[in-house]
Amino acid sequence: MSKRRLFGTFGVRRVANEVLDPEFASLLAGSFGSLVGRRIAVGGDTRTSTPMIKHAIIAGLLSVGCEVVDLGILPTPAVQYATRNYFDGGIIVTASHNPPKYNGIKFVDEFGIGISEDMDIGVEELYFNKNPKRVSWDKIKKLYDNDTIIDEYIDETIKRVDEEAIKKAKLKVVLDCGSGAGCFTAPYLFEKLGCELITLNAQPDGSFPGRDPEPIEENLQDLIAMVKELGADVGIAHDGDADRTIFIDETGSFVPGDKTFALVEKYMLKANNGGLIVTTVATSTAIYDIAEEYNGEVIATAVGDLLVARKLHDEDGLLGGEENGGLIFPDFVYGRDAALSASKVLEIMAIEKTPLSKLIDELPSYFTEKMKVQCDDDIKEEVLRKISDEVSTLGFKVDTTDGVKIFKDEGWIIIRPSGTEPIFRCFAESKSQKDAKEMANWGIALIEKYKGE
Ligand code: MG
Repeated sequence: MSKRRLFGTFGVRRVANEVLDPEFASLLAGSFGSLVGRRIAVGGDTRTSTPMIKHAIIAGLLSVGCEVVDLGILPTPAVQYATRNYFDGGIIVTASHNPPKYNGIKFVDEFGIGISEDMDIGVEELYFNKNPKRVSWDKIKKLYDNDTIIDEYIDETIKRVDEEAIKKAKLKVVLDCGSGAGCFTAPYLFEKLGCELITLNAQPDGSFPGRDPEPIEENLQDLIAMVKELGADVGIAHDGDADRTIFIDETGSFVPGDKTFALVEKYMLKANNGGLIVTTVATSTAIYDIAEEYNGEVIATAVGDLLVARKLHDEDGLLGGEENGGLIFPDFVYGRDAALSASKVLEIMAIEKTPLSKLIDELPSYFTEKMKVQCDDDIKEEVLRKISDEVSTLGFKVDTTDGVKIFKDEGWIIIRPSGTEPIFRCFAESKSQKDAKEMANWGIALIEKYKGE
């Protein structure tokens, strides 16, 4: 692996025991610990390789004189919450929505925000020089366990919504935990909120036997069928580390993540008489339409929830979000949070006394098409440059905050290399599905053209 290539958009993600083995994890954690020092929280998801990697991380941190608190198996945002309130830094062992063979390491700073690029580089330098600052035997600090954060995280989530209104609505909820870290929080949260709860894949299992951990429509067919069959008010699905929530409405329709974002944005802007919304360049125009109507302001960053989170922190924003269903509530966690996202939508349904499908219908309507295509990491940059060159000669307005976003008469399209996988992603949005699809196909054809050379 070449220098400067360890970190993707948020930490390291690889196949367990290929690059991501105990030696790698220990040395990387020792490098991080050398820079942060003091008290570090460690937690992880339900993956089979998580205990192996987590214990290597703990050894690395202890070797450089950090005090370590093991929070156990819990959602990524629960570690971020704990770090922000009690620790100097945090490490999360998770590969989020990726298949079971993967795992990953995410580093967060004292605010619980994914570490900056400068810090990434600092950690990498120590790693590649094999130079973490080992301490003498008498300076090695203690390892503690803490299993109280989960309950605190659930209670703090509930404090941020109208608990009584949700309880009164007695919503019938089908919850698909996907056998991930949400198994330890989500069922208890919705029970405390008085929901009539039916769970699916609520047994933690790192082989993810029930479904793939990515909460996309094709992976949620069991949930969709159960919502319809049982006449539920809503279906809720989490990804592997429970930072993302996806909803199924009462008719069994999959609600795209940007619709959920738009719904919560509208509700929070109304409640707060405006505010700053932070999102990425890949998010729907609906976010801008709503901000205009309800006295909001929108800032768009490059793709990556840690960039959105940092901007929310620096600019004191009200709400952040991504098109994939990751909402960020900066008064709680500086990162995507599935628990509060889900609770917020239940609150909106309860207070508005309106079915989810109708709440979604009332939002500005755009059609999106998301496609992806394989592309080796080492040619991504060149492919992107050639695409940028070609589209700029065609006279379109272009935004290069992240990848290349092209504004055409019928809508926009963004072509960008993934920071975590050897693929290019291509998102298009338009007022019609046909146009969105045509634009996305055009984008894929551009990528194919240049990666083939
Ligand atoms: Mg995730």
